[in-house]
Amino acid sequence: MLDADFFRRWMTGAAAAVDREAGRLTDLDSAIGDADHGANLQRGFAAVVKALEGDPAGTPGAVLVLAGRELISTVGGASGPLYGTLLRRTGKALGDAAEVAPVQLAEALRVGVAAVAQLGGAKAGDKTMLDALEPAVEALAESLGASFAAAAEAADRGALATVPMRARKGRASYLGERSVGHQDPGATSSALLIGALAGAEA
Ligand code: ADP
Ligand code: MG
Ligand code: MG
Repeated sequence: MLDADFFRRWMTGAAAAVDREAGRLTDLDSAIGDADHGANLQRGFAAVVKALEGDPAGTPGAVLVLAGRELISTVGGASGPLYGTLLRRTGKALGDAAEVAPVQLAEALRVGVAAVAQLGGAKAGDKTMLDALEPAVEALAESLGASFAAAAEAADRGALATVPMRARKGRASYLGERSVGHQDPGATSSALLIGALAGAEA
C-alpha cells in the first residue's frame, strides 16, 4: 500500500529531478519553444515542496491536490495548468483514503492523464507531454499498477519517440516542420516525473 509519505517522496523526488535536469529541459525548449521549461518547472516544484513542508496533507489524495494547486498558481507557462491538472485530478480520483493500492494509483493516473488531454486538446502523436504520460499509464495498467519501473521506462521511450514527430500543440506547433528532429521538453519532464514515482518506492 502507498501512504501519504510515499506521495511526498514522489513530489520531492520530482523536484530534485527537475532541479538536476533544468538546464536540459530549457535547452530542449530553446530549440522548439521559448527556453523557459526548466525554469518554469523549477519554480513550480520548489513551491510544491515548500507548500508540502507547511501542510500536514495526510492522505495521498491531499498531497497530490495540494501539489497540483501549487503548480497551477506558480507556473506561468502552458505546462503549469497541464501538470497541475494532472496532479489535482489524479489526487481527486484517489479520494480521501489514508493508503492506496498501486492499482488504484494506476487507475487514478489514467483519470489525470485524460484530464490533461481534455484541457490541452492534444492526443498521442502531437509531440507533447502526453506522448510520455500515456505510455506510462498503459505500462502501469499492464502490470496492474505493480511496476513503476516499467512505467518509467515506457515514459522514457515515449519521450524519445517525440523526436521525429511534428508538434501539433503548444508553442512548438508554430514551427511546423521545423519542430521535427527535437525531443519535446514536456514529454522529457513527464518522464522525469514518472521516474520520480519509481524512485519513491525505494
Ligand atoms: P510554454 O510553452 O508556455 O513556454 P512550457 O515551456 O513550460 O510552457 O511547456 C511546454 C510543454 O508543454 C511542451 O513541450 C509540451 O509538452 C507541453 N504542452 C504545450 N501545449 C500542450 C497541450 N495543448 N497539451 C499537452 N501538452 C502541451
Ligand atoms: Mg516554454
Ligand atoms: Mg513560456
